[in-house]
Amino acid sequence: MKYLAQPWQTLCHHLNPSCAFCGETRIPGYPLCQHCHAELPWLSVEDQRPLPGCTASVSAFAYQAPISSLLLGIKFGRNLRELATLGELTATGILPQLTQVPDAILPVPLHTARLHKRGFNQALELARPLAKQLGIPLLTRPIQRRKSTLPQTELDASQRQHNVHQAFQLHTSLPYRHIAIFDDVITTGATARELAAVLRAQGVAHVDIWSCARAILRQKHELDPQIDYH
Ligand SMILES: [Zn+2]
Repeated sequence: MKYLAQPWQTLCHHLNPSCAFCGETRIPGYPLCQHCHAELPWLSVEDQRPLPGCTASVSAFAYQAPISSLLLGIKFGRNLRELATLGELTATGILPQLTQVPDAILPVPLHTARLHKRGFNQALELARPLAKQLGIPLLTRPIQRRKSTLPQTELDASQRQHNVHQAFQLHTSLPYRHIAIFDDVITTGATARELAAVLRAQGVAHVDIWSCARAILRQKHELDPQIDYH
């Protein structure tokens, strides 16, 4: 919580002291009430599963309700207020888990055509509070998505890897030794790992993969047929 004591958040709290989810009185300087905060599927350091080819993988939440429905609602309903709230919550989940602060955050870019259609890059908007609170740059220009890939959620694991192969192109060398890639959801990690390989080929020594949510199988009854857990 210590990262959330920003003056503007205190001001927002005084202007609108109700929980962003349920309308009850919220925790001072924080978007949610105690109950809603406690109900979220937070991940801890022990819950994280390393992804091949990255230094550290850190996600704030398990990809399950209500985070999964919030993310889908934001993506298709353009609810920017909910997006800002989820960005704050993501920072709350990720910051205490960091052992090293990277030099910069690189949100997974959207292809220009999809960006124009949607109007915003969800990964970029969710990463803003993290970059601000860590005081590090948010990289939005150096990498372009050069093919308009299919949504990963519609594909199986091998299709996903093929779908993102050579999807990214770096325009310029990056003066950083440690970069955190940020995506809204990590499922197989194929997209983030493809991007990590591009960064490492350019001499970035340490690449973290961070996300708002990660598909992690905790109990059998939580299996989601839309997700490939391998
Ligand atoms: Zn609440």
